[in-house]
Amino acid sequence: MVLRKLKTPLEWTELPDREPGPQEIRVKVLACGVCRTDLHVVDGELPDPKLPIIPGHEIVGRIDAIGSAVKDLKLGERVGIPWLGHTDGSCPYCQMQRENLCDHPLFTGFTRDGGYATAAVADARFAFPLGEVGSDISLAPLLCAGLIGWRSLVMAGDAKKIGFYGFGAAAHILVQVARWQERSVYAFTRDGDARSQLFAKALGAVWAGGSDDAPPEPLDAAIIFAPVGDLVPAALKAVRKGGRVVCAGIHMSDIPSFPYSILWEERELLSVANLTRKDGIDFLRLAPQIDIKVTTTRYPLQNANQALADLRAGRFEGAAVLTP
Ligand SMILES: [Zn+2]
Ligand SMILES: [Zn+2]
Repeated sequence: MVLRKLKTPLEWTELPDREPGPQEIRVKVLACGVCRTDLHVVDGELPDPKLPIIPGHEIVGRIDAIGSAVKDLKLGERVGIPWLGHTDGSCPYCQMQRENLCDHPLFTGFTRDGGYATAAVADARFAFPLGEVGSDISLAPLLCAGLIGWRSLVMAGDAKKIGFYGFGAAAHILVQVARWQERSVYAFTRDGDARSQLFAKALGAVWAGGSDDAPPEPLDAAIIFAPVGDLVPAALKAVRKGGRVVCAGIHMSDIPSFPYSILWEERELLSVANLTRKDGIDFLRLAPQIDIKVTTTRYPLQNANQALADLRAGRFEGAAVLTP
């Protein structure tokens, strides 16, 4: 499913099989999650996309061709391919173990072709072995919603009371991780979205309300998953002195101006960008211990446009997953 022009539907397209380069693998795609970032790609909200592009960066696939220089993976192995598709390994950020900020990265489904397809080619060094435990469909959302959510949770520090703004694919996974870590999650949804609030509570949130509601007590930290700039001042008001607000998305509408008093008293505001391979290894090692229940809605690959439209409209809980 190819995006040829920004803000137009993806097109079903027959392409010849591609051969992997020496450091690459080719996988038969088993499942690919649908992420909000895919909407930002289609809508042209991210700078410098490659066009045409095959979106999709939550790929679960099985290796069916392998480059001559690939050492750590083998034919037939099940792997996950995430958003971070390549780094140069040499820029100052790579040198300081912050490859998520690499100066010359490639991103799966944005600047290199992704998983809305029957097959995908990836840099082997950025693929994660997944083993054979867990279904393809339930693993796919872990590869971005889970992984970048995990990075955001780490960034939130040791907060015991933590607010999640936007209760979509990432939050529904992370509430289970946070609960396992004995934190209390306060879920903020669109005002009046009773269905999402019930969903959040069913997964272990101690409180759920609208995004303009004040939590019953001040929070230690908040993570903003929804791409809505108005949530920044709302979250700053909800955290205690010295509290931290983490913006987890790659794109957000403009943040309205706000009085300095809600940042004052050493509140912190920061963003999370992309992922490092270490985030992936840490999270995928932890996930089976937590027994995360991923709620998914499956769409056949050729219905990718419908999946994107349903995500935009908030028509499902949890995560959408495409299967070829
Ligand atoms: Zn770099
Ligand atoms: Zn994503």
